[in-house]
Amino acid sequence: MVARIIPVEPFDLVIFGGTGDLARRKILPGLYRRLADGQMPPEARVIGAARSEMDDEGFRKLTRESLEEFMPASALDKERVEEFLSLLSYVQVDAKGDGGWAELKEHIRPDVVHAFYFSVAPSLFGPIAERLKDHGIADDNARIVVEKPFGHDLASAKALNQSLACHFDETQIYRIDHYLGKETVQNLMAVRFGNMLFEPLWNSQYVDHIQITVAETVGVGGRGEYYDRSGAMRDMVQNHLLQLLCLIAMEPPSRYDPDAVRDEKLKVIRALEPVRPDDLVRGQYREGPDGPSYLEDVGDPRSRTECFIAMRMSVSNWRWAGTPFYIRTGKRLKARASEIAIVFKDAPHSIFDVPQGRHSNVLTIRLQPNEGMQMTVTIKEPGPGGMRLIDVPLDMSFAEALGEQAADIPDAYERLIMDVIRGNQTLFMRGDEVEAAWAWTDPVIADWEARGHVPSPYEQGSSGPDDALMLLHRDGRRWREIRP
Ligand code: NAP
Repeated sequence: MVARIIPVEPFDLVIFGGTGDLARRKILPGLYRRLADGQMPPEARVIGAARSEMDDEGFRKLTRESLEEFMPASALDKERVEEFLSLLSYVQVDAKGDGGWAELKEHIRPDVVHAFYFSVAPSLFGPIAERLKDHGIADDNARIVVEKPFGHDLASAKALNQSLACHFDETQIYRIDHYLGKETVQNLMAVRFGNMLFEPLWNSQYVDHIQITVAETVGVGGRGEYYDRSGAMRDMVQNHLLQLLCLIAMEPPSRYDPDAVRDEKLKVIRALEPVRPDDLVRGQYREGPDGPSYLEDVGDPRSRTECFIAMRMSVSNWRWAGTPFYIRTGKRLKARASEIAIVFKDAPHSIFDVPQGRHSNVLTIRLQPNEGMQMTVTIKEPGPGGMRLIDVPLDMSFAEALGEQAADIPDAYERLIMDVIRGNQTLFMRGDEVEAAWAWTDPVIADWEARGHVPSPYEQGSSGPDDALMLLHRDGRRWREIRP
């Protein structure tokens, strides 16, 4: 059963960058769905804020168009859409100027939750934070939501943290990593810490290795120039993949509360070993049937930025010593698929005539598409053919288990926004966590830059460069197939 929906408290949510891509694609549709589901109370107000000249009606029109563009028609109920639009207003404001702030202040009501979503470039985080305080718009209970990228390296992340810390307490800052808002990611914690079955086996004694794959079929396309300045390590690994790794590797927190969970994640990041050059593969896609090469996409034939990365990582602590974490992410791969696979060791002795190294028990946590979990176990093949063994999946796909209700599982963004309103920071990154992640990432990047490492080309629609396959082959293991 899907949990009963409990409406959140009335709130004023200001979306800086309310006219931008993220607001139109994710934030506004997400808020509409929360209203349609009865979670967003009718007393809530959403205020778009950006430099574009627009009145309330203009913002409502833009929002209506966004809902129609980014949501299936079946998800839009005429009356609900009107109700949602009636809660919207717009204020023209320049993050770096003085105009509009007094008007914005007039929109903020007393006695409701105040949240400010910074859906703008990170260079505007500091100026907005400063003005919210200087103009007396945000008080000590207000919450601010900031988007990725949170810094480009440790120094810039520290500078961003400091620019926010001048005006807001850490308990008011919600750093979004939308991977943490995914249903299965939270289910990973539920499965680990809500059952007796898995936790005793969740260590290097029983787990052979772990694979984390985030594969995309799209190229860098229109955002080539931006992407080329960051690359897969900064864009995906430093945040999303490290967060997933933390949730798998962390010790059980004493409580499911924000700081208890984030303290344990931080310990994992601090226990990460530097990646050895031999344990790292970087790649760029070649020209192929789906489009130009990476180098053409970014318009720089000499670019050395990676759009594919695979690594063998080690978490140096008692629980995980000796168990490798293999991670990979890339663009223009054979399927869009994100999953975590916990591959358990073989039984110590086989009474059946089967070879070792089969790794029959794999717990797969699927993030997209088709969120769900699967556990493979060995059973006897049915029939009179003697004791022949096969590995079969115990499938826990949400779509099957929950039927139509699975369609109601909120998108990561809407869940996270509701957590902001509830004041629950558990699924948001704390400042020290982000800095620790950069402190691990920076030397890895510095090392490949110092070596003048050139990414390997790979075919579009493949699983990445051959070197990435070798990363596991040489350890006597293989990647799981990237399947849609
Ligand atoms: P975008 O489409 O370029 O939108 C930027 C927004 O900021 C616009 O509404 C723009 O409106 C406003 N803005 C720009 N300068 C401003 C200023 N000086 N004062 C006030 N408003 C200003 O960018 P986006 O894709 O929505 O991304 C927003 C943030 O989310 C970025 O930090 C991005 O990295 C992050 N993010 C985006 C996505 C995504 O899917 N789009 C995913 C993850 C993270 P005006 O021009 O009218 O001022």
